Amino acid sequence: MNFDITNIRKDFPVLSQQVYGKPLVYMDNGATTQKPQIVIDTINKLHSKQNSSIHRGVHYLSEQITEQYENARKIVQEFINAEFSQEIIFTSGTTGSINAVAFSFGEAYIKPNDEVIISEMEHHSNIVPWQMMCDRKHAKLRVIPISDDGELILDEYRKLLNSKTKLVAINQVSNSLGTVNPIKEIIDLAHNAGAKVLIDGAQGIQHGKVDVQALDCDFYAFSGHKLYGPTGIGILYGKEKLLFDMPPYQGGGDMVECVSFEKTTYNSLPFKFEAGTSNYIGAIGLASAIDYVKAIGLENIAAYEHKLLTYATQKLMQIDGLRIYGNARNKISIISFLVGNIHPYDMGMILDKMGIAVRTGTHCTMPLMDRYEIEGTVRASMVFYNTFEEIDKLYDGVVIAKSMLE
Ligand code: PLP
Repeated sequence: MNFDITNIRKDFPVLSQQVYGKPLVYMDNGATTQKPQIVIDTINKLHSKQNSSIHRGVHYLSEQITEQYENARKIVQEFINAEFSQEIIFTSGTTGSINAVAFSFGEAYIKPNDEVIISEMEHHSNIVPWQMMCDRKHAKLRVIPISDDGELILDEYRKLLNSKTKLVAINQVSNSLGTVNPIKEIIDLAHNAGAKVLIDGAQGIQHGKVDVQALDCDFYAFSGHKLYGPTGIGILYGKEKLLFDMPPYQGGGDMVECVSFEKTTYNSLPFKFEAGTSNYIGAIGLASAIDYVKAIGLENIAAYEHKLLTYATQKLMQIDGLRIYGNARNKISIISFLVGNIHPYDMGMILDKMGIAVRTGTHCTMPLMDRYEIEGTVRASMVFYNTFEEIDKLYDGVVIAKSMLE
């Protein structure tokens, strides 16, 4: 497909609006992405014509929507190249997926003095669930340090791995630094030590092809809303054998086979992990977002976003006193920065008045901010619907804000 930015932007109705009388420049895609019309239409149609609860009905609407829901699972399976569709669990998002593993895997496999490895650049969603699990199970949390450039120090990782390591939980891409981590190497090293690996793909899935079988990861988690799909839906991929042996982490309807007051037996995979009425509208909406992304082509997306990153880095670095946090050799189009002593909130608020949406603060990575001894950063996160002209506007905006605030 020809990568035509003008046409692509037309697919996203949010982008064509003005804020404070200025054209919106949306560079907060790390937090959430905008939705193409096809996703909006799909959800609208589901609500206006096709809505019915899945799995439990014998009537027309219920059967139709159940088919769409299970088809959505297959679309996700194919998208990440999972071996079986029952390895795809619909959750509420990356956070929901990680908590599911922290509880279920934790209950089954973590014993006192076992160890779990995370890294210094994790999102709170990939820190706190493990801390809670370690507290419950009297296990230890170990942390891989990073270099000043924002890369994992793999030699330190190797030293942390030992026979007590039961799980390694690492993000594929850092939401604050843009670093792309060498997850294949991390997975292989963990497996050699006998540990399982969860990959937090919240910032990875939308920027390039993910193949869970080639990676050989044990779990992979991501959110629909960061992949141009709806909020409140996410994916937990887990290897079938592991999921089969893990206990359910929530009880309720749909996850059971037979219930009596004496004893309950559980449903098979994947339903064992999908208690209650699922977010079927979200799941089907996510499938339409995946179809949309596939039609543009993940290779085209990655190539264009790389150009945006190179251009934005060169441009912003021309600003006197601007420091970029996250200078890894392998990065996606996220630029976290500070200018002189200007507080990130002040910078963000002035950019906002110019119509430029960036995120300011700790980006849910407080330990990472502590590592750099800063309160937070200004984060511009760009995706394939951003333009070079928008980067020029960001540059101009930062220059103006700097002249006002210094
Ligand atoms: N992990 C990373 C790396 C993230 O960037 C985010 C969200 O920003 C999450 C996890 C949590 O995602 P969600 O809030 O969609 O569950």
